[in-house]
Amino acid sequence: MKYKSTRGGVRGIPFKDAVMMGLADDGGLLVPEQLPDVRSRLDAWKGLPYTAFAKALLLLFIDDIAPATLHRLVDAAYSTFTEKDVVRMVPVGDVSVLELFHGPTLAFKDVALQLLGGLFTHILSERGGHLNIVGATSGDTGSAAIAGVMGRPGVDIFILFPKGRVSPLQELQMTTVPDANVHCVAIEGSFDDCQSIVKTIFGDLDFKHAHSLGAVNSVNWARVLAQVVYYGYTSLRFDQPPVFAVPTGNFGNVFAAWLASRIGFPIAKLVLATNENDILARFFATGEYSRGEVRYTHSPAMDIQVASNFERYLYYAFGEDPAKVRAFMESFAATGRAATGRAPDDPVFVATAVTNGDTETAIRMARQEAGYVADPHTAVGLMAARRFPTLRPMVCIGTAHPAKFPEVVDAVLGAGATTHPALEVLRNKPARRAVLPNDVDAVKGLIRSLGK
Ligand SMILES: *Cc1c(COP(=O)(O)O)cnc(C)c1O
Repeated sequence: MKYKSTRGGVRGIPFKDAVMMGLADDGGLLVPEQLPDVRSRLDAWKGLPYTAFAKALLLLFIDDIAPATLHRLVDAAYSTFTEKDVVRMVPVGDVSVLELFHGPTLAFKDVALQLLGGLFTHILSERGGHLNIVGATSGDTGSAAIAGVMGRPGVDIFILFPKGRVSPLQELQMTTVPDANVHCVAIEGSFDDCQSIVKTIFGDLDFKHAHSLGAVNSVNWARVLAQVVYYGYTSLRFDQPPVFAVPTGNFGNVFAAWLASRIGFPIAKLVLATNENDILARFFATGEYSRGEVRYTHSPAMDIQVASNFERYLYYAFGEDPAKVRAFMESFAATGRAATGRAPDDPVFVATAVTNGDTETAIRMARQEAGYVADPHTAVGLMAARRFPTLRPMVCIGTAHPAKFPEVVDAVLGAGATTHPALEVLRNKPARRAVLPNDVDAVKGLIRSLGK
């Protein structure tokens, strides 16, 4: 299996190079040159345990890692999960919540980043060299990325976050990690400032190459692939093709769902659920993709206006025509707006946006009706699932443990509604972070002095 860019400038890339490249060198996103068709394999795959299923599916997309090695990487990645079968399905009323948050940082990003960390180490051990991962976070991504590479040889990680603006628990999840290859950097500025520093550093190609910088952001193909697994796996647990309600921000998780359906898993429909940052919901209603102001909501991991994985979906919606993708993305980059002329003619998607008020309602109802405590991101999916009562069986993606977001959950359900022992122990652990001004050179200096 080789990979190509959605913008047409890169092709013939083996999987391992796709993992190391992240963003394609022509500015596009990497996708398989040809999608496999899994339909003839479904009978054999039905009933496999999660990791056995993951190995079989991943090998259709990866032909430059020996199967025995890939098996070892998959086993290692998911041995960090507390759930024996990695994911867990819990009935909540007439919906099933697919909990994906039983990994080390209690958010679904662990499913992909635990595997990506292992892939990085494996590839670097073959090729030699060192990787300095640099990223910015407003919450979940930073801790999951750190947990994916902490203590691993060949990798250092620098995570920038806005000082005083990350929730205290999420900050502790990063700063209490004791491994020497983890560098948490509180920037005296906003999340946008952190992102802009990271962007500027990656734009300095001399610096980037001199210090072997790497990224772990959600455009990495391996992250998408690891997420396709749980959609395929779950679709085979039902007698009838299920519908998935997916709370989404960067279109990463829901793109993986779409891909699972595209390659032949029995999936009836996808309910794309956004919060008040509704750019994606508007696109599916009108075909217009236009950037607004970011709104700060109860589901901060979805407070995103520009969905970095959306380009992969557009590529397929445009019949795999890179020229159309380029024109659309260039128009969007120049004006903050691009349009296809009409709502996409896609039988799989329905889309809906959920307000803060409705998120609170969903949290309240899940507890009243089923005794279930949902985190605010999962609650966006639960509200979306309610809006389509004829679409059943329905699986709502559970993206985080509620105890990661006690501010919102306790405000709705009362103090102490949710705790998790893995979070409680953090409060007594020593924390470690650097504090730097909002200044690119200061961050470069730190990478120079601590990176390898
Ligand atoms: C990252 C994240 C999301 C959004 O996922 P996308 O892949 O960006 O759509 C939703 N919920 C939680 C808890 C997250 O951490």
